[in-house]
Amino acid sequence: MGKIAIIGGGISGMAAAITAARTDSSAEVFILEHNEILGKKILSTGNGRCNLTNMQLSADYYRGGGAQLAEAVLRQFSLEQTLEFFHSLGLLTRSRGDYVYPRSEQAADVRESLQMELERLQVSCHLEEHVRSVRRDGRGFAIESGDKLYRADKVILACGSRASQIAGSDGSGYALAQGLGHTLEPVVPALVQLKVRANPFAKASGVRTEARIAARIDGRERAADTGELQITSYGISGIPVFQISRFISRGLYDRRNVQVEADFLPDVSYQNAESLLARRAEQFKERSAEGYLRGIFNRKLIPRLLDLAHIKAKMPAGNLTPAQIKSLAAVCKHTLLDIEATNGFEQAQICAGGVKTSEISPDTMESLYVPGLYLAGEMVDVDGICGGYNITWAVASGHIAGCHAAGR
Ligand SMILES: Cc1cc2nc3c(=O)[nH]c(=O)nc-3n(C[C@H](O)[C@H](O)[C@H](O)COP(=O)(O)OP(=O)(O)OC[C@H]3O[C@@H](n4cnc5c(N)ncnc54)[C@H](O)[C@@H]3O)c2cc1C
Repeated sequence: MGKIAIIGGGISGMAAAITAARTDSSAEVFILEHNEILGKKILSTGNGRCNLTNMQLSADYYRGGGAQLAEAVLRQFSLEQTLEFFHSLGLLTRSRGDYVYPRSEQAADVRESLQMELERLQVSCHLEEHVRSVRRDGRGFAIESGDKLYRADKVILACGSRASQIAGSDGSGYALAQGLGHTLEPVVPALVQLKVRANPFAKASGVRTEARIAARIDGRERAADTGELQITSYGISGIPVFQISRFISRGLYDRRNVQVEADFLPDVSYQNAESLLARRAEQFKERSAEGYLRGIFNRKLIPRLLDLAHIKAKMPAGNLTPAQIKSLAAVCKHTLLDIEATNGFEQAQICAGGVKTSEISPDTMESLYVPGLYLAGEMVDVDGICGGYNITWAVASGHIAGCHAAGR
């Protein structure tokens, strides 16, 4: 029988505690959490519905130093086991496309189901306990929180990241890991909106339109995604922007030249776009340039595209020269936007970066520097794309850490 302390009662810490207590029923498992409730962040996930996982679960959807670690963890804890874990809590699931949600579509049910299972397993939860330091102490660990000192044989750090406005996401777990000898890959906001320098689309704020969005770092495409782009007064948002944002964030951190390329006709090749625009100019020659684009693009977007192509909105479409049509096709297919910043940590859904994965055993999630110390969840340098991948990582890594901390 041993004492297992879990620092951080988010979804990774709760999963770690459940697995540890299920694995060794004689172990004394306890959670130290500085919020007034466990799992506060879960409540805001998936717009209150909590996107638990994804039917296309694969390590390919994880980034950073994390892809290899994610692969090792998902090999041990597959999609079937992830679903089984949720079912074992009493959560039935349903899919929308490949995105998996609780059947009730209520994130609060996820939090409460985890909590009820912790209660059944008699895991003690110490709330409003902000852990200040964790030290090796003889064969175990000494954990300082306020004026209290806790002892444990094993420790699982599951403190999350700095992302979101939710109280508790203060990044203090990184300092705990560093205090134990770990190092960090730079921590930057991810799954986050982007600020565009001299935003040429500012007047189209509010427009939602299909687009392919690519991250270009020093002129090279690093990642791309197609989906609903949301134009804002300061820049761009929406799922395709979120999916590439970690590359932009890291590029800005490294002071690279960071741009986004927007393609507003993602289902049409450049050649076909040019001939479509030329054909329509002939067919609708009496219409204005603005009018002849109606029916293809959102009406608030059209003046912005014409501005970028240096075409006057009122000129007759029939007077467009081949050079102007080429330039318009180039704007529709390859508009380059200079990115000056991302929104801050408080707007981000997750962080990229964190405790280096090369310092963690991929089989057990145990620290390679400190025996008996395990790490789980978002504080590790593993970040997934949107679609349930981050909760899956939190649960899978928590499960592996809990399983091995409990001695299996
Ligand atoms: C708005 C939003 C929507 C999201 N939607 C989804 C989604 O639908 N699907 C998905 O897969 N992912 C989603 N995510 C991401 C996902 O929520 C996180 O990746 C996941 O919750 C991380 O879990 P975690 O346990 O590692 O960290 P956290 O949930 O952040 O938990 C860490 C816990 O540790 C505590 N803690 C930190 N430091 C200390 C300390 N020093 N002492 C004591 N306690 C401490 C914190 O209070 C916190 O409770 C979303 C994120 C946000 C912000």
